[in-house]
Amino acid sequence: MATHHTRMLIIGSGPAGLSAAIYGARAAMEPIVVQGLQPGGQLTITTDVENYPGFRDVVQGPWLMEEMQAQAEHVGTRMMWDTITDIDIAGGSPFRAVGDSGDEYIGETLVIATGAQAKWLGVPGEQELGGKGVSACATCDGFFYRGKKVAVIGGGNTAVEEALYLTNHSDDVTLIHRRDELRSERILQERVFGNDKISTLWNKTVERFIGDPLQGGLTALELNDTVTGEVSTFPVEGAFVAIGHAPATGLFKGKLEMDDSGYLTVEPGTPKTAIPGVFACGDVMDHTYRQAVTAAGTGCMAALDAERFLATLEFAKKEAREAAE
Ligand code: FAD
Ligand code: NAP
Repeated sequence: MATHHTRMLIIGSGPAGLSAAIYGARAAMEPIVVQGLQPGGQLTITTDVENYPGFRDVVQGPWLMEEMQAQAEHVGTRMMWDTITDIDIAGGSPFRAVGDSGDEYIGETLVIATGAQAKWLGVPGEQELGGKGVSACATCDGFFYRGKKVAVIGGGNTAVEEALYLTNHSDDVTLIHRRDELRSERILQERVFGNDKISTLWNKTVERFIGDPLQGGLTALELNDTVTGEVSTFPVEGAFVAIGHAPATGLFKGKLEMDDSGYLTVEPGTPKTAIPGVFACGDVMDHTYRQAVTAAGTGCMAALDAERFLATLEFAKKEAREAAE
């Protein structure tokens, strides 16, 4: 067990955390990034990224995150293979966090960039058949369904991208959505509607995942038609749940303000939480935009504000010392 001290402790290694680290390191704050269970964050579970500025051609999510990490380390960031399990912020700076490893992290400022996690439907069979036909990541698991009939549940960008990705492995992909209109960007919708490997089932909710986890896994979905109320069985070997993400804020319950959906609350237009010296950036505080570039942008803002906070704190300490002399 070790204790690590830093002027800027960053929890999370997605675009928000790594951008904060790049700015923090360049401001001589010697940041520590605690990476968590998903080093590189959500973009490591996707393939093509076409909208991150600076690249004329499509880049791969995992590659982009490796580059961000390399840049952060190059300018002096320390990356830690650990997950924060407890945090003490009520007493103000310095803040103390404890990792799964037992190590302790003391940060004069704290940047929370814990992002978001995939949501599940919470219906019977989903948990039992997880990894046996039910998944939340086509790019991770799509390969296992080569040549099989698969379904994607959801209507946002993630669902549409998952469906498109799955056509690399399957000629029979069905997108199942609870409404009759997709939420995803128009350009992605056009790709789905123009792809003859993808069918759509509108106004359907999945009520149950059917199959035996010990024998063959998922075999079908029980569907409910939201318009007619008709219940049907849809045979399928793989189902990808892509209904969005929930902010990873369990660690901060009762310690920081959150909105009704669990997103951290910040002073509007800034990454400042109600506790001076604690900043939140990226998807953990943004339920509207949730993009890599906005996460990176707010990560930058968090680092700049952390630097200002420390400068003010140091100035106040200096004045107090001088007054005492
Ligand atoms: P995340 O990327 O979610 O990273 C969170 C980090 O926090 C992770 O490293 C995790 O390990 C860490 N963490 C969590 N809890 C702890 C803890 N207790 N201790 C330590 N670490 C912890 N956006 C785009 O702009 N373009 C795209 O093409 C695009 N494609 C996407 C495809 C998919 C499949 C998904 C799911 C999202 C996509 N997005 C895309 C959205 C984009 O990935 C997110 O907006 C972005 O990753 C958010 O960055 P973040 O740093 O806030 O959080
Ligand atoms: P999202 O935009 O919140 O969409 C979630 C979808 O799942 C919606 O269509 C929603 O239906 C449906 N849904 C939610 N709960 C459901 C339930 N219980 N049962 C059935 N369906 C349910 O989430 P996302 O697609 O994961 O995207 C998250 C963010 O990441 C977005 O900001 C997105 O732009 C971004 N992202 C960007 C890209 C890209 O730029 N290429 C790629 C992926 C993700 P309703 O429509 O009826 O609400």
